[in-house]
This record gives sequence, structure tokens and C-alpha cells, in this order.
Amino acid sequence: MPKKRYGQHFLSDPAILERIVQFARVPPEADVVEIGPGRGTLTRLLAVTARRLIAVEVDRDLVPGLRRAMPANVEILEQDALGLDFGTLMPDRFHLVGNLPFNIATPLLERFIRARDRITAVTIMVQKEVADRIAAEPGSGDYGPLSVGIQYYAEVEPGFLVQPGSFDPPPKVHSRLLRLTWNPETPDAPRFIRFVRSAFSSRRKKLLNNLAGMQPGVDRNALTAMLENLGLNPSVRPEQLSVDQFFDLYNSIREQAPGPRTPTKPI
Ligand code: SAH
Repeated sequence: MPKKRYGQHFLSDPAILERIVQFARVPPEADVVEIGPGRGTLTRLLAVTARRLIAVEVDRDLVPGLRRAMPANVEILEQDALGLDFGTLMPDRFHLVGNLPFNIATPLLERFIRARDRITAVTIMVQKEVADRIAAEPGSGDYGPLSVGIQYYAEVEPGFLVQPGSFDPPPKVHSRLLRLTWNPETPDAPRFIRFVRSAFSSRRKKLLNNLAGMQPGVDRNALTAMLENLGLNPSVRPEQLSVDQFFDLYNSIREQAPGPRTPTKPI
């Protein structure tokens, strides 16, 4: 019986599984980490070309069956993926793939970001709404802190939609694949991400109004001048700024505001 508390929705449609493998574009002989192998349907396909595959499964009832069924290049790790150090899991860089439970997608993404110098590409199935927010372009209604926060670190490639009926049991939501490739040169910027969140604190307000008063030492006039310097209309709304424009504005503010300086712009 699939367990609700582990977000178990198993995929068995061979056509969908094949499309996930194609979309992931894991090269032959690559090392692979899979989160949530479940009954191992995707695992088996990935194992055909992988050099080594570590599949991380939290449900101990599934582990013995997985261990029995898998070829020798597959290792089943009985573990909560949220407690895993992705930086030390494999000696070389690896591809990460997973049809994972929806509720752990965002905390896992934070972990992938932290270990991004070890991960060549991330291919995950997430709830459609979350995928659309992560992949959204400036100006769209889905564009927000999650889009900027992820796109600052990664190239985001939205994949195909999967209907609830392709899963057993069917989830309440539609799913979409996403493929992320990191730029390993991008420095960590937790303050930038916090800044972006405050910039979006009210979507209906102008950016200036969201930021005014939030940065000590930077008043409305200073903010207006900064926006103009960046070629932006002072009455711009937060969702109209590209990731680069957010980063430039953030750095202009840091230069004027007291406090530690920020990392240089990513290449
Ligand atoms: N990939 C399989 C299963 C998807 S269901 C398939 O496509 O059919 C999600 C899987 O993730 C389940 O096997 C569930 O037990 C596992 N899982 C849930 N939470 C997890 C966690 N925190 N760490 C690792 N695996 C988890």
C-alpha cells in the first residue's frame, strides 16, 4: 500500500518513464543519485547507462524489495534525503534525478543549491504550480521570489506535464518536470535572496514602496536615483525586474547602506 505520509505516488507508465530519462539527458557512465526510488521503476531505467547509482529511500518497507531487484551498480541508501549531505555522497560530480514527494521539493532544492558544485544537473518532478513559479519569466504572474532565488543559481528548463492519472495513486495536482543546471561560479547570496523576498512583500505595490524604509540609510530619494541609474522607471513593480536587475539594485543599495559588502556579480 502506498503511504500518504511519504507522499508516495508511483509511476508505472513506461512511456512517461522513458520520457523522464530522455529529458534528464544523463550521459552514459555518469554517476547518478536518485531521491525516492519507490518501487524502482525509474531506478531500473537509469541504472542501464549509469556508472554508479545511489538511490535514497526513506521508507524502510520498500528497501528490501529494491535491494533484491537492482543490478550491481545500484546502491540503496535507507535514509531521509533531507538529512543527507549531498556534498560528500559521491566522490565525483553526479546527476540528480527524482520523482520526489511534492512537500520536500523546496527544502531539497535548498540543499541541492548548497551542494551545487557537486551536482551537474537536477531533474525533478514537482507540482506544476511550483514548477511554473520556479521557471517563470519577469512580467508573468508566477514570477516571484522563488523564480529569482532559483534562477540566480541555475538555468531552469521546464519539462513536460504529467497528468494525475499516470501515478498510482493519482495525486490531487498536476506535475511537471524541471531540469536545473547550476552555474558553479555563482557565489552564495542569502542576503540577496532575503532582499528579493522583501522586494516582493506586496505584489500590488510599486517596488519603491516595498523597499522604502527597509534598508537603513537608503531613503526614497536614494532608491529613486538608483532605479533611474539602472535605467528603470521609479514606479516599476517588483515582477518587472529581471534577475540581473534585482542583483544590480541589491548591490547599489549595499554600496550605500551600512553593513558587510556583498559578493560580486555572477558571470
Ligand atoms: N520514484 C518513484 C517513487 C515516487 S513516490 C516512482 O516514480 O515511482 C516518492 C518516493 O519518495 C517514495 O518512494 C517515498 O517513500 C520517497 N520519499 C518520501 N520522502 C522521502 C525522503 N524524505 N527521503 C527519501 N525518500 C523519500
